[in-house]
Amino acid sequence: MQRKGGYFRFPPFFLYRTYFFRMKTKPHKINSGAVNVITLGCSKNLVDSEVLLSQLKGNNIQAGHEEEKSNAGIIVVNTCGFIDKAKEESVNTILHYIDKKEKGEIEKLFVTGCLSQRYKDDLMLEMPEVDGFFGTQDMPDLVKSLGADYKKELLGERVLTTDSHYAYLKIAEGCNRPCSFCAIPLMRGKNVSRSLEFLVEEAEFLVKKGVKEVMLIAQDLTYYGIDLYGTRKLDDLLNRLADVKGLEWIRLHYAYPSGFPVEILKTMRERENICNYLDIPLQHASDNVLKLMRRGINRKRTEELMQQIRDEVPGITLRTTMLVGHPGETQEDHEELLEFVRQQRFDRLGVFTYSHEENTYAHRYEDLIPEEEKESRKEEVMEVQQEISFAKNREKIGKVYKTLIDRKENGYFVGRTESDSPEVDNEVLISDKGLKIGNFYNVKIQDAMEYDLMGTIE
Ligand code: SF4
Repeated sequence: MQRKGGYFRFPPFFLYRTYFFRMKTKPHKINSGAVNVITLGCSKNLVDSEVLLSQLKGNNIQAGHEEEKSNAGIIVVNTCGFIDKAKEESVNTILHYIDKKEKGEIEKLFVTGCLSQRYKDDLMLEMPEVDGFFGTQDMPDLVKSLGADYKKELLGERVLTTDSHYAYLKIAEGCNRPCSFCAIPLMRGKNVSRSLEFLVEEAEFLVKKGVKEVMLIAQDLTYYGIDLYGTRKLDDLLNRLADVKGLEWIRLHYAYPSGFPVEILKTMRERENICNYLDIPLQHASDNVLKLMRRGINRKRTEELMQQIRDEVPGITLRTTMLVGHPGETQEDHEELLEFVRQQRFDRLGVFTYSHEENTYAHRYEDLIPEEEKESRKEEVMEVQQEISFAKNREKIGKVYKTLIDRKENGYFVGRTESDSPEVDNEVLISDKGLKIGNFYNVKIQDAMEYDLMGTIE
């Protein structure tokens, strides 16, 4: 079943199938017509699932999100198709629900999202048990297939799946960048910005629902507005959102370094409710690899930009993402990356290993760096970062930070400071009792670990 030439590199299906047939079980009471939505991948996919849930709710269709004990008759899997590991997880999830359908535990199975957008024809051939495959722009058709009418009047509304005090605000869809390794433009298309008015309305809608913190997301946040207004409009958007009463934290994710709109730095410094936090994936630091990646920037310009950001927004928290193992990356390039990470001392850093994705620009190169070597390069970068993270955390002991409480766990209240985005960054464990989830408190840091902090209410 495995196809040569890498057009479809999933686990061999027949292995999975034989296992499932053996396992038939007695069907349980199914709630026909009810829908359970499963979201894989990134926060942009999560927003799409929230929009779908809002459409179903608007049609009085009972719908839930990733409900373990759901007896919903219909499953929608919102897939990710970014890199190998993500694709494998998506396929395994679909097969899991094909099994449930074979066992009579669900009635219908629909698949949407990036994997479906990218491999629709192959998936239809390989998985005839699935009742329908939909792309990333096919929401109206998907809603129709679920027995509902697509309601334009509900645009901007969502059923939140995150904790009720924070939410993602997707300001644009798609990407116009030529990064060599990236398949996202193949699945999400060209950059399409949402209007300023639409986004302010959506932010006001979220605040009415109890949201105090929004993460601004897109494939490339800094491109915002060029397609719609003919010029960058991120600074305007930030000021309009900062005027929305009740929004206490506005956080920026997925900024692109080349052509970075430095005008936003003044706004970030001056507007109280815009977090001194910036997620700016750099991917690498060696000029050789940045060129191969077609990132449109070199190390010198990257360093100047990092310095300017830190000068203009004192104390800013910088998060970045690196990619190791790109074709053509030499040991010297890798050592330069390690040296750059030591030099820059980012506050938050994640690392991906290169995945050889067909139809991307880099697919013309040979993927010669062994997976083990990619993994060990990733480990080396994370080891450097772990030391930096621990050292920076120790510098926070004795200081007081405004902290948002997300949940209670193992006897601690768990919160985040302005330097921590949900799901991806560090947390503060607070031993005090009787705190209210979704509220802000001033927390004095008492102790530090590699990533997380311990604190008490000040
Ligand atoms: S900016 Fe580059 S890496 Fe990010 S989504 Fe666009 S093409 Fe992919």
